[in-house]
Amino acid sequence: MAGMGAYDELIELQRRLHVLESVGELLAWDQETMMPAGGIEHRSRQMSLLAGLAHERATDPKIGELLSACEDDGLGTGPSGSDDRAPSANVRELRRRYDRLTKLPAALVSELAETTSLAQHEWARARERSDFGRFRPWLEKLVRLVRRKAECIGSPEGGEPWDALVDAYEFGARAADLRVLFAPLRERLSALIDELRTRGTRPDRAFNAVKLPIDRQEAFVRFVTERMGFDYARGRLDRSAHPFCSGTHPGDVRITTRFRDDLMCDALGSTMHEAGHGIYEQGLPPEHAGTPLGEAVSLGIHESQSRLWENHVGRSLAFWRWCQPQLGRFFGSALDAFDVERAYRAVNVVEPSLIRVEADEATYSLHVMVRFEIELDLVRGELEVADVPARWNALYRDYLGVEVPDDRQGCLQDVHWSCGLFGYFPTYALGNLYAAQLFAAAERAIPDLTEQFARGEFAALAAWLGEHVHAHGMRYPAGELCRRATGAELGAEAYLSHLSDKLRGVYRC
Ligand code: ZN
Repeated sequence: MAGMGAYDELIELQRRLHVLESVGELLAWDQETMMPAGGIEHRSRQMSLLAGLAHERATDPKIGELLSACEDDGLGTGPSGSDDRAPSANVRELRRRYDRLTKLPAALVSELAETTSLAQHEWARARERSDFGRFRPWLEKLVRLVRRKAECIGSPEGGEPWDALVDAYEFGARAADLRVLFAPLRERLSALIDELRTRGTRPDRAFNAVKLPIDRQEAFVRFVTERMGFDYARGRLDRSAHPFCSGTHPGDVRITTRFRDDLMCDALGSTMHEAGHGIYEQGLPPEHAGTPLGEAVSLGIHESQSRLWENHVGRSLAFWRWCQPQLGRFFGSALDAFDVERAYRAVNVVEPSLIRVEADEATYSLHVMVRFEIELDLVRGELEVADVPARWNALYRDYLGVEVPDDRQGCLQDVHWSCGLFGYFPTYALGNLYAAQLFAAAERAIPDLTEQFARGEFAALAAWLGEHVHAHGMRYPAGELCRRATGAELGAEAYLSHLSDKLRGVYRC
């Protein structure tokens, strides 16, 4: 069969490309965890060589020919995901990737690469000094470049330029749909946060301020993540300035975390978060490694896996019923004053704040919506870069009720825009919504799920996620995966009822 010949050749090229890219990924992991400072110059040469080789291979016209031959044979047609046979799903995804890469002129790609690398440096210095004026010309240039990028890729039917950008992270997400999803979510979250503040009893946070030795904290988070099902024979945990997960193959998944002696629960939460990403990577089907069927669906779905373990497991009462009695083994008598209830309430404090990465479960999505509104207007050309700080501060006042004292704690806090990542932020909020909807479906399927947590048993949850999410790789687009796993379109109901049920209990109102 001529068609299958083309398919086999296409997959072989793709697997080799993936091997090359995974070498780059490993170098990137090393740079954040192990590399001595003196290695940076040579490392950037290594990375740039690998990126160039990978780009050359990914845009090889031979791939275009093989894709066309596969499509002539009826494989991969239609972006809807209705044809879910393995070869069709692979061809569909590889076509999307190839078109996206080849639509961008080489000059634009290299201008973006050069500008983002300089802009990141300028952003870091501007943030240090809280000096938006210093970053402003770079952001202006980046907005021009990403608008050109969106133009080259082309807006989807009925969509707008921003949609072309988000497609790289969350295929099929549309600004108009996100607005419809986010607007009522924002109102109801704000109402809930208000209610907790005015009618509730704020728990004390002392549990998360007890000084605990970092080596004991590390032993503890290892113990918990192993219990969750992160497989240390196929993964590692190391330290880095910003926690992340790097998966090059289901057999080699690296997660990182960070510790502070007076913030044990933050380390626990971040490590459970990254282990959630890691369990997803370890659960991808190894027989499809290196092809889309062996890859995560989207950033929103990836984030759902981390948030699910971090919040729906790690901030649940049942989890603390099991976890609290373990604390003595790791920390001696240091936490004896905190019973289950006190520990559980302490990890669920809600507090509108300035910094996204430190935000709690209830306010987090509001931080994301601020960024979404601003970048949408920038890409539409309806907001001048010079007006970003004022707009940012007004939205923080409006959405979170906080006054932004300076740009360092305001619009200069995130690295994303300096990296050219426009369309990326909403995937964090989508992750929260997917997590809640998936968790509710798992609870329906496994009636004694939370009682299992109270016994330190998480295998049934991990198996359910493995079967309904991980095993599929990119077989279904995110929306379709959600419908199949939960029986419904993505919505905000599960997330809102999870938060209001839990937090009203925690705040006793
Ligand atoms: Zn994450």
